[in-house]
Amino acid sequence: MHVNTGAYVGRFAPTPSGNLHFGSLVAALASYVDARSVGGRWLLRMEDIDPPREVPGAQDAILRTLESYGFEWDGQLVRQSDRHAHYAACVEQLFSQGLAYACTCSRKQLEGYNGIYPGLCRNAGHTRIDAAIRLRVPQLTYAFTDRVQGEFDQHLGNEVGDFVIQRRDALYAYQLAVVLDDAWQGITDIVRGADLLDSTPRQLYLQELLGFSQPRYLHVPLIVQPDGNKLGKSYRSPPLQIEQASAFLAKALRTLGQEMPLELNNAPPKELLSWATAHWDADKIPRTATLDEASLV
Ligand code: GLU
Ligand code: ZN
Repeated sequence: MHVNTGAYVGRFAPTPSGNLHFGSLVAALASYVDARSVGGRWLLRMEDIDPPREVPGAQDAILRTLESYGFEWDGQLVRQSDRHAHYAACVEQLFSQGLAYACTCSRKQLEGYNGIYPGLCRNAGHTRIDAAIRLRVPQLTYAFTDRVQGEFDQHLGNEVGDFVIQRRDALYAYQLAVVLDDAWQGITDIVRGADLLDSTPRQLYLQELLGFSQPRYLHVPLIVQPDGNKLGKSYRSPPLQIEQASAFLAKALRTLGQEMPLELNNAPPKELLSWATAHWDADKIPRTATLDEASLV
């Protein structure tokens, strides 16, 4: 596996299942500033592959929030809903090579396995009709070094099992779409939330299988409350107010360990972003961040 060494290309890849929240702002900010601080490109991709979970108006709200928070992306916005033909071709290839297979297990049949697929359909030879498609995983550990979280490894066979790349309702899985699009867009650096740390080994396997180069990874801290609990859903979901852009950007920068001078607190968003770009130090990003929910209201 070769690691990318070309000029930096980063991306932000929101899912339109709601507006951006504080956690997504921290991820957007880190990926943007990490790219711009080295003169890199920053792309925007709307991960709209799950229409049942899409909230009407969320795409526009996300774009408006990003613009009013001062983010400028390079090139055209890419939508995953325009990329189905590519996902379909990949699933077909993996299936015809025997690297993936059709699974007809019901949710009920899979209860009690802690989300680790027990391989029931592995050798069943089902047709693709009314079936999910699962990728066979090797009995191997996949590991990488995250720029913030350090060493991370996962045994795909024991900890994940054969995973879905196309759902039974024909929708494509995030794991497949994200790997194909990151490669197609030439992404060298993935900066995103730590909730995706344990998806990364699956993505490393797909990259290897498809002959793609491996991007660098930086997973920004999970945000926890002072009592150690994750931010509650109600606090993750209040939309980022446009009038509060500077205050939230300043708070997000401090969450990322960047020591922003107090006198910049009320500076316009673009000024905060250029300060952050000029002073960016990814080594200061903490592995977890504590934030009082009350300060986000
Ligand atoms: N669309 C995913 C999300 O909003 C992020 C995907 C990624 O950054 O790999 O959680
Ligand atoms: Zn099955």
